[in-house]
Amino acid sequence: MASLSPQSTSVHPGRIRVLKQGSPPALDQHAGPVVYWMFRDQRLRDNWALIHAVDQANKNNVPVAVAFNLFDQFLGAKARQLGFMLKGLRHLQTSIEETFQIPFFLFQGEAEETIPNFVKECGASLLVTDFTPLREIRRCKDKICGRVSDSVAIHEVDAHNVVPVWVASEKLEYSAKTLRGKINKLLQEYLIDFPVLQSPHRKWAATRLSIDWDSVIADVLRKGAEVPEIDWCQPGEDAAMEVLKGSNDGFLTKRLKGYPKDRNNPLKPRALSCLSPYLHFGQISAQRCALEARRARKLCPELLYLPATLKAIDAFLEELIVRRELADNFCFYQPHYDSLKGAWEWARKTLKDHASDKRELIYTKEQFEKAQTADPLWNASQLEMVYHGKMHGFMRMYWAKKILEWTRGPEEALAISIYLNDKYEIDGRDPNGYVGCMWSICGVHDQGWKERPIFGKVRYMNYAGCKRKFDVDGYISLVKRIAGQSKKRKAETLLSEKAKELHS
Ligand SMILES: Cc1cc2nc3c(=O)[nH]c(=O)nc-3n(C[C@H](O)[C@H](O)[C@H](O)COP(=O)(O)OP(=O)(O)OC[C@H]3O[C@@H](n4cnc5c(N)ncnc54)[C@H](O)[C@@H]3O)c2cc1C
Repeated sequence: MASLSPQSTSVHPGRIRVLKQGSPPALDQHAGPVVYWMFRDQRLRDNWALIHAVDQANKNNVPVAVAFNLFDQFLGAKARQLGFMLKGLRHLQTSIEETFQIPFFLFQGEAEETIPNFVKECGASLLVTDFTPLREIRRCKDKICGRVSDSVAIHEVDAHNVVPVWVASEKLEYSAKTLRGKINKLLQEYLIDFPVLQSPHRKWAATRLSIDWDSVIADVLRKGAEVPEIDWCQPGEDAAMEVLKGSNDGFLTKRLKGYPKDRNNPLKPRALSCLSPYLHFGQISAQRCALEARRARKLCPELLYLPATLKAIDAFLEELIVRRELADNFCFYQPHYDSLKGAWEWARKTLKDHASDKRELIYTKEQFEKAQTADPLWNASQLEMVYHGKMHGFMRMYWAKKILEWTRGPEEALAISIYLNDKYEIDGRDPNGYVGCMWSICGVHDQGWKERPIFGKVRYMNYAGCKRKFDVDGYISLVKRIAGQSKKRKAETLLSEKAKELHS
């Protein structure tokens, strides 16, 4: 896979992979427009893929457009995830068209068809895409490469990671420890300020259909109603920046100090940044979060004397950069990133050795989904995910490990945990989710521990351990309240919809 020469773009060439070289236009032909197929990085600000697309368009004096494809089905997304995503995109369309006059096209169906069709229709010479390590999109890109004409070039830009995944490491990393040093060495080169996004020199002349957002959104909400939207987290780039550093309850401005002490306390969910929904949908750039975290340290010299704040910034950067990018490394280099086959040899062996250990309790997928286990703490975590849409980070580990304990084997445990995580978490269907489940159930990126039944040498967690760490009953009550409020809201919405139907 080639990369670009440093002169050809204002984006670090290491961030760009040439998935397909385009043949130069014939002498009597001009270069066509640039299309950015936006998938993972759904934002206008701080988006290296968009910067590259505009850059290339201006260099060749051609117009540029953004295209987004709404898949008919993508990893089981429901109203919760799709509503959040589309509402964010609706904001994006307004700002990108009003501020930069870059047109935004929304397609529905399979991207391997809609994107090459659009490229052909508008005569584009360059297709830019952002990067995700997930296999569905990698396959889709392979197909697109085969479907566009020879003259079209395709560039993939890692706009999601601070250090592009293929630059951070050329191989599957064993643990955070083996990746950390590599990433840290490259931060000076990659953790830099973003250039100002240029306006395109040439405007898009072709006509385009307006997007009926209300109807597209109503459609996904109806089809995915089984997992309704959440209302505590507003979609869009502005909302994301507010959560990061807003004056009201911003993480860096108001909540940072509690991070080291309280981030493992499920009773204090706001001690965490709560940025994962925005990071997942690319409504905020991790690089922006990291730059602002570093700035927070520099802007307030007195903070230097507050070890808790310093500790908080370092702990946050560790999760945001090292742990998150370790997950991308795993999914990029391990084709079996969501199966037992992807576990390290020691873990596969130990889990196999204990596969026939007697299980005291075994639950079905349905029982898990309905939170019908005998453990009120586990049930609470499941309900937190179902009703709130974001299970606390500490509980996610306990939750997945117990699924291993209460199923027939690790493959089944992994399949159930991924199914539930992807279905209910607002930040699900993410490399972090696959790696989180693999870490909990298959010991990925972890070390071997004292051998015990079922788990073998995979790290174990239990109720008593949780009880020592936090107020378990308090957490159960908190989730009960959240679930109660959510059910009440759902009932009120149903009532008002019925009333509307009656009066229409
Ligand atoms: C079983 C299991 C499932 C998980 N599923 C998901 C998922 O679907 N989506 C998801 O984004 N995260 C997942 N995680 C990782 C982690 O729990 C969440 O990222 C975190 O709870 C999100 O909340 P926050 O943004 O407030 O966290 P913060 O602590 O404020 O972290 C800031 C950011 O750092 C990154 N981060 C934090 N912890 C981790 C981690 N352990 N691994 C990788 N990156 C991390 C995330 O991008 C997060 O948004 C999972 C973990 C486990 C054990």
